[in-house]
Amino acid sequence: MSQTDVIANLATVKEEIAMAARTSGRAVDAVTLVAVSKIHDAGHIRPTLEAGHRVFGENRVQEAQGKWPGLKADFDGVELHLIGPLQTNKADDAVELFDVIESVDRLKLVNALARAMEKIGRRPACFIQVNTGEEDQKAGCLPDETDALVKAAREAGLDVIGLMCIPPFDEEPSLHFALLAEIARRNGLEQLSMGMSGDYETAVTFGATHVRVGTAIFGSRSDHV
Ligand SMILES: *Cc1c(COP(=O)(O)O)cnc(C)c1O
Repeated sequence: MSQTDVIANLATVKEEIAMAARTSGRAVDAVTLVAVSKIHDAGHIRPTLEAGHRVFGENRVQEAQGKWPGLKADFDGVELHLIGPLQTNKADDAVELFDVIESVDRLKLVNALARAMEKIGRRPACFIQVNTGEEDQKAGCLPDETDALVKAAREAGLDVIGLMCIPPFDEEPSLHFALLAEIARRNGLEQLSMGMSGDYETAVTFGATHVRVGTAIFGSRSDHV
């Protein structure tokens, strides 16, 4: 996939988000596009930065460490989101590099992040990840456990701004988006990170404030490697 395609894809995704927002009576700027750049190298990401995009998502700390310090040095105002599972022994590295951590899903991680933030003197905003489909293999806390985890994270001093989910691959995503919105509402949380390449427009109509879109912008790995 060429650089021009990536720029065109970015524009298309932004238009679709704007259209979905308008259709559902929401402000266009109420939805932030997190461009998911995992598996793509810095050279493939750079054109979107040159085109003015600033919010990106990565799912692995180590991979992000390899490309983002350089890109952040070259472009002002980058906002980097961690969207993948985080091991407690990587908490320091995550707090150092990321501006938002979307995958907080257990008490042990809450405590590790609180310690890392204290030590490093940076306080990335956090989303609590909810396993809305209650899938065994998937990260995220269970819907039933979310209220307690939100409370514990707040008490530990984390800046909890919202909830994140990844619906089961083979289920109607809107049920999961609605559930996430409901759990957020009862916890007084305003931000909802939900929706990927296949369902971000639906997510916007269900109140997403952040959509995480990778393939629809950058293509799949085989397109350019
Ligand atoms: C990869 C990934 C995305 C983006 O998925 P696409 O289908 O490529 O848009 C979104 N969220 C998470 C947590 C991911 O790991």
